[in-house]
Amino acid sequence: MAEEDDARLAQLGERLTQVRGRIDGAFAASGRTGELPTLIVVTKFHPAADIRRLAGLGVRDVGENKDQEASSKAAELADLGLNWHFVGQLQSKKAKSVVRYASAVHSVDRLSLVDSLERAMSAEQARTERGSLDCYIQVSLDEDAGAHRGGAAPADVPFLADRLAAAAGLELAGVMAVAPLGTTPEAAFEKLAGISAALVALHPAATAISAGMSQDLEAAIRFGATHLRIGSDILGSRPDVR
Ligand SMILES: *Cc1c(COP(=O)(O)O)cnc(C)c1O
Repeated sequence: MAEEDDARLAQLGERLTQVRGRIDGAFAASGRTGELPTLIVVTKFHPAADIRRLAGLGVRDVGENKDQEASSKAAELADLGLNWHFVGQLQSKKAKSVVRYASAVHSVDRLSLVDSLERAMSAEQARTERGSLDCYIQVSLDEDAGAHRGGAAPADVPFLADRLAAAAGLELAGVMAVAPLGTTPEAAFEKLAGISAALVALHPAATAISAGMSQDLEAAIRFGATHLRIGSDILGSRPDVR
């Protein structure tokens, strides 16, 4: 067990170093200055023990996409003080659970979810000392409106943003997107950068851009990503289920 544990730790350390190197390289190549994007390691399907190893390697931000899995890992790893990012489609009825552990939700895509998160945060803040919840508006970059796999239409961003900005306990962080199939990540993230710029013109503090996964982090960095969501290139492939 101990030996296996060391081998996994070494593997995670190596892959983390590789990904950090890619981020540094892409950041330098982009000509951007200022802070490096935040690396969120997406740990879905992988055991809590891996998250503990990653924390030992300096990871502070982790991402999950299912409430049940995330809440049990967060409870088991509460001693680590990690920032938990919820990155999956979120049912309104799960809001109450998610605000117990998440510092950010990257998948806010409709008004009814803003309402549920605001109600859940109001109850949670009455009960605990927790700070506000960072909320990203997930934008669908699919040209084909029928193909939306989660995400608001770009035209809906302004009113969602106004509602989020006015909601108690919620902080409008910025935008999030997944590059759709059928286009290059560069084209997708350039479009997202334009949506972000329009949002920032209305809400100057909402500067975050959550974009970039294992396959396309370089393109995301080139087009301004501030938060990267990287899973498989650090943890390895996920079981092909669900
Ligand atoms: C799984 C997931 C990721 C990570 O994807 P990889 O390709 O494994 O890096 C990023 N964002 C979201 C929304 C995800 O569900």
